[in-house]
Formats: sequence, C-alpha cells, structure tokens
Amino acid sequence: MNRKKRVKRWLSMMILFALLLGTVACDKQTATRREGTGRTATPTTAATATPTAEATPTGVVTPTTEVTPTTTVTPSAEPTKAPEFGPAENCAIEFPTRDLYHYDMDLTLDAKAHTIGGHIDFTFYNDTKDTWDKLCLRDYPSLFTDPVKVGYSRSTRLDGEITGISGFTDSRDGSEISWTRDTDVSVLWLSIATPLAPGEKMTLSYDFTTKIPAVDDRFGYVDGVFNVTNFYPILAEYDRNGWCTAAFYGDGECFYSEVSNYDVRITFPAGFYAATTGTEKNKAEAENTVTYTYHAPCVREFVFSASDTFAQLTRDCDDVRVNILFPKNYATRDAWDEAMELTFFCAEKSLEAFGEAFGRYPYEELDIIYTPLAAGGMEYPNLIIIADNVCQPVLTFNDTGAGPSFYMLEECVSHEIGHQWFMGIVGSNSGMQPWMDESITSYTELVYAEYLDNLGVAAIRGSFEATDLRDKTQAAKLIRNENLPINKSYYEYSNSTRYVSSIYSWGQIVFYQMELILGHKEFQSVLREYVHRFAFTNAMPEDFFTVLYEFAGTENEQLNALLDNCFDLSRLKTAS
Ligand SMILES: [Zn+2]
Repeated sequence: MNRKKRVKRWLSMMILFALLLGTVACDKQTATRREGTGRTATPTTAATATPTAEATPTGVVTPTTEVTPTTTVTPSAEPTKAPEFGPAENCAIEFPTRDLYHYDMDLTLDAKAHTIGGHIDFTFYNDTKDTWDKLCLRDYPSLFTDPVKVGYSRSTRLDGEITGISGFTDSRDGSEISWTRDTDVSVLWLSIATPLAPGEKMTLSYDFTTKIPAVDDRFGYVDGVFNVTNFYPILAEYDRNGWCTAAFYGDGECFYSEVSNYDVRITFPAGFYAATTGTEKNKAEAENTVTYTYHAPCVREFVFSASDTFAQLTRDCDDVRVNILFPKNYATRDAWDEAMELTFFCAEKSLEAFGEAFGRYPYEELDIIYTPLAAGGMEYPNLIIIADNVCQPVLTFNDTGAGPSFYMLEECVSHEIGHQWFMGIVGSNSGMQPWMDESITSYTELVYAEYLDNLGVAAIRGSFEATDLRDKTQAAKLIRNENLPINKSYYEYSNSTRYVSSIYSWGQIVFYQMELILGHKEFQSVLREYVHRFAFTNAMPEDFFTVLYEFAGTENEQLNALLDNCFDLSRLKTAS
C-alpha cells in the first residue's frame, strides 16, 4: 500500500515549494495542480510520453523526523563474497511442485444491491505439525459496519453489512460445522467435529454474500467501479504463534494467507468487464448476464475490479501481458494519454528491474486499475489499484525552471509492482512485521530508479545517505521518535503517522544503507536468494537475516552497526 507516505512527502515538498515559489514562475495550468516535486524517469522509448520538463529534483524523500546530519554514509566495505551469491540475475521463479490449497468459487456480482456472493469449495490440508481442532477464517468486509475499525472517522456513514455466511460443511463426513464470530467480527471460529491431523486434507464448503460499501477504498464501490478485494471468508494463517487474528487497519495491511490455486467463475450483469487476479479462460453470455471463468495459480488471494464503464489498454511488457483499465470518461482528462504511456513504461521498466534484481515475474498477466481511491495505491496478486488522481502531472522544479511531471505516478506504480515480489511471491505477516512488506517494497522504488539511472537517483542517494544509521548518536534520535527499530508491528506505534515514517521512509533508508555497505549488485544478490529460498511461502523475520549473514558473514562491523541500530535483534527468534 502507498497511502500516507505520499501525503507526508507532499507536505515536505510543499515546504520546498514555499521557498521556491518566490523565484520560480509556473504556468497557470500546472500551478493549480501542484502537489509535489521529485524525480522523473526519463523514458528511453520513442513511444513513451516525455514529461514536458525534465526535472532535476531539488528535493527528494524527506523523512518526517528532522535529524541533523553529522556524518554521511559512504560505501566503504568491500563485498564479503562475489556477486554470484544466490541465483543469477533474471533467474526464473518457478511455481512450487508441492500440493497447494485450492479455492473453487461460483460467484455473482449484483450491481444493484452492491453485493458479491456465491459458493466456495475450499480444499486444503493441515501444513503444520499441530493438530487443528478448530479452523480460523477471516471475513474483512464485516468490519465495514464500523467506520473506526476500517480507518474512517466515527461520524462517517458506511453502508457495510455483516457478511451472510451459511452451510459450512466438512467433506470428510459431510457434517455441518458450527461456527462463531469473535469480538473482532472479522475473525470466524469453526468447530470441526473431527480434528484435522498434520498432513490431513479436507474440503470446506460454504456460501456467502458480502455487501460492497459505497466508498473510494480498496474494497468499495464508487463512480461505477467495484473494487472487490479481501472479500470472501479466507483461511487465516497458522504459524508458530497459532492462528493469526491480528486486527485489521486502514493504513496498511494485516492480510496474511497461504499461496493457493484459484478457479473462479463470476457472473456479472451484461456489459460488465473485470480485471482479476489470474487470467480469463472463458466467457459465456446469456440474455442479461455474462459469466467469466478465471484461473489464478499460486496466489495469496483472488481479487477483481469490475465495471460496465471500463476501457482497457493492453501491451506486452517484458513478456508479461499488462492491462490498464479505467472508466472510459477518464480518457478526456488532460494529459491522460501521456499518463497511460508512462504507466506502460513504468510497468515495463519495473518488471525488467525487479526481474533482474529479484527473479523474473512468474505470472502471465498484470492488471493496473485506475479508480478513485483514498490511498495512493494498493497491491494484490497480479493486480494493482492506483488512485486516479495519481495520473495528474505534478509541478517539479529544477535549475532551469518548473514543469509538470508524473513523479507520483511513477513512484506509486513501481511501488505497487514491487509488492508482487514482497507480499505476492514472498509473503509475511504484514501486520506484525510490516518491514518485511512495506520497507523492502519502499526500497524497490530505488531499485527501479537505479535501473533507469534517471536524473533523480543522485539526489535520492544524497538524501538517503545524509543520516548515517551506523552512528549510534544519529540512531538514538530516531529511536526516541519511534522511527527505529523498524521491526515493530503496526500495533506498537503510538500513531499511524509514526508508523508510516518508520516503516516507509526510514525502512527504505535502512535497506538502501545495507546496499551501500554490501554493494549494489551484491545486496541485490542477497535479496534474490531470499526470494528464491522463500518464494510462495510466508517468511519469518530471521529468514531474511539468515540469508543476509550467509552472504555478509557475522563479522561485518559496518553491517552489524547498522543492524544493531535499526533492528531489535533480540526479537528475531520469537517474533513472527
Ligand atoms: Zn506498499
């Protein structure tokens, strides 16, 4: 997700604008929209829109806590091992050969009632060493009955409803399963009559109907577009701490599930079209409806965005079919064509950059949806949702003047594509360990910028090196403001502002400074090995450190100083 981070950057950039506006003239059209400044990729293909002003950033990412730099990090350690550590650049990421969970769904979208529902046959097995005498499922849509629980003010009117669920059946004996909702209404407890032994398989069948609330959210209906995500009762993750019942929060993710195969049939009103996780396999039209069949292998969840107003653009980007979908009327907006060109450019370069750095994107397709969205963007397997206002050019300044750029679009699209590796391919407990999700993904923004070697990289590096995180005095200030250590759960921060500053901004810098110490290509080889080793599993915090120490050894003084200051290493064996 990329939400308040953008707001914070915007605020810091506005301070910069205040200083610059007195001397830099800007045209009326862009002045009305100015939201920030920063880096702009320089497209290298003729077909790609070139922003009207090439920006040399005058300001880049500014973490929210002011720290007076006293030292500057410089790469000083020789790489401990040769760059050939781990698999080669651009290596393939193969789907696992082990038996995967399987969701078979027959669904119907009722566009008038704003509901999605149907029947699910979910086949799975106990993949732990513990016997399961109950099952835990998560039902996030029911939380939209309480605005505070989903990140809105208490006075906000939401039209969410408790999900209607019936007919939980255990395939092993055909018995109906009794179940209850926890105090947290998103947590369902199913009392299975016969415990599920380690390795034992069963099919859980059930029916559900979910209300889609009228909000511009990752789960919601607005302006004719249904964003239908985290929408069906899904098996919670069972890890060494048992069933994960971490609370939902609106500023990030608590989503934590097992990679599964999906076969899904959705019936829509005639004229509707959807972008989904996975790929479309069949289309069957009836008098007033259309039914699509989708197959989605090896993903953590299935989501879709649907509308009868969608326009679609499709291109091959680095051997991946990239579809951009948006309401047709957006095409009349200023600079829309340029924004779409740049979106394709950003998708292609992100897939290239991350494929080289972490292993190639293993799926056929990637969908990018533009809709009204309160957050800047949100990631799902094979599908990202980007706020439509990100497509507006923002004013940037450089030494020769000012002009519009799509800095926010590039940052947002590359960030959400980065999540395809760090969330999608390597999962983690995103609520309890957000640094494994959002901090690493924020670092991928820099991997993208470095791959392009664009004009902003030097300035970004300068900003990211201004505070030496190996320095205890510097770190102490950041610890006092909750920016460090970064391996805290969302729930441990005193407010979401501090969470965002720590996990997104400082987390990004922590990873960048690891790169400085170990070397650019060398650090990417560490991440590539981490992805290779933990692909399609849920990694634990110490898994990352295991790979890191395998490369760097445990005696690298600079790395150890950084890790000691930026992580609470005492947590590694017990946290999850
Ligand atoms: Zn994110």
